[in-house]
Amino acid sequence: MKRRQVIKNLSVLPVAGVALGSVSIAGCKVKEDPAPKRDFFKELGVVPRINAGGTMTYLSGSLMLPEVIEAINSTCHDFANMYELQDKAGEKIAAMLKCEAAMVTSGAAAALVVGTAACITGTDRDLIKSMPTPPGPQREVIIQKSHRYVFDQAVRSAGIKLVDVDDAAQMERSINKNTVMALFFNGAESWGAPPDKIKHEEFVAICKKHNIPSFIDAAADVPPVENLFKYQQIGFDLVTFSGGKMLMGPQSAGLLFGRKDLIEAAKLNYSPHECPIGRPMKVNKEEIFGMYAALKYYLEKDHEKEWQMWLDRIKHIAGKVEEIPTVKTETSIPTGPANVFPSMRISWDAEKIKITAQDISKALLDGTPSIIAGGRGNSLGIGVVLLRPEQVDIVATRVKEILQQAVS
Ligand SMILES: *Cc1c(COP(=O)(O)O)cnc(C)c1O
Repeated sequence: MKRRQVIKNLSVLPVAGVALGSVSIAGCKVKEDPAPKRDFFKELGVVPRINAGGTMTYLSGSLMLPEVIEAINSTCHDFANMYELQDKAGEKIAAMLKCEAAMVTSGAAAALVVGTAACITGTDRDLIKSMPTPPGPQREVIIQKSHRYVFDQAVRSAGIKLVDVDDAAQMERSINKNTVMALFFNGAESWGAPPDKIKHEEFVAICKKHNIPSFIDAAADVPPVENLFKYQQIGFDLVTFSGGKMLMGPQSAGLLFGRKDLIEAAKLNYSPHECPIGRPMKVNKEEIFGMYAALKYYLEKDHEKEWQMWLDRIKHIAGKVEEIPTVKTETSIPTGPANVFPSMRISWDAEKIKITAQDISKALLDGTPSIIAGGRGNSLGIGVVLLRPEQVDIVATRVKEILQQAVS
């Protein structure tokens, strides 16, 4: 077959076939010039980064698992009825998480909006249409003062007023006929807040006593995997986890799960319905499949083995940088509940190695490949859980190089 004819025949093949270096047409194998892989980063002039930090939205969350990419790729060629998909995916997810009902949202922040909306509107279509300014007095959501955080904006965008409380007694006193929900920020202590005055169980008990739905934001709180089950078992009515953090699903996906009537109401407040408050936060078909695939993988994977792999990465980097005199490393594991996984700190004698962690961060960032890591003074933090396997040594080598150059 002549090359020209091959190209002509190729034009009727599905597009996906064209990218292959070699094509087989009617049993006749033809070697094509391997098409150079299109580099979209280069095309837009965007710098690819190695993430030796953490799961940060500004750094595009986490890298999707191969299983997630597979779910996205294998479902993008057909249409689906989004009501049906959300229902069916929700049923599977609820069964996996041993709760009544579940849905996929475009992230935990969107789950906070539609979950709150659900507590206000129930299934009342007129109320849903009226959001975020339903008729009547402004609705109220109870929150511990120490739990106020950046993402309470998502809850407030459902039109509610947050009512801060200090302790259980004040929480009880603050509940009134306008109270629609109580929000618990699970990671408050991880973010530096003082210990919770009202613990999970007491918080839930007060809500139940007054018939107020309780909602817990546990967005960044796996590992451990048990946390995916813990909060519905304690009795929270709604739970959210981010999909784009350690669940390694799509960055713009998340889970909202819990009480069936509230999830039904949340779905009515969400896309693909056209008028509700959640419509601008739509999650697409591929992300729903991808989120499902990520959760399934997460629940089935060997968590101990993964933990050991993270420790091995730290050991590898430590072995390399500790070859420089005075350089020491330690493994740090936060007490949680957010971001509980091992990272490392690298420190050195500032008299002998005249460089700050800020300078190292900048050199890592400006180098090729560009590496994200943070630190202060003579202590550099290196996260290992978001590195691709081959990046572990790249990070170790770069950090060592930079430290070495600063040895006086
Ligand atoms: C990351 C995070 C969110 C937002 O999650 P997205 O999935 O990015 O929308 C909300 N709450 C907490 C505590 C988080 O850490």
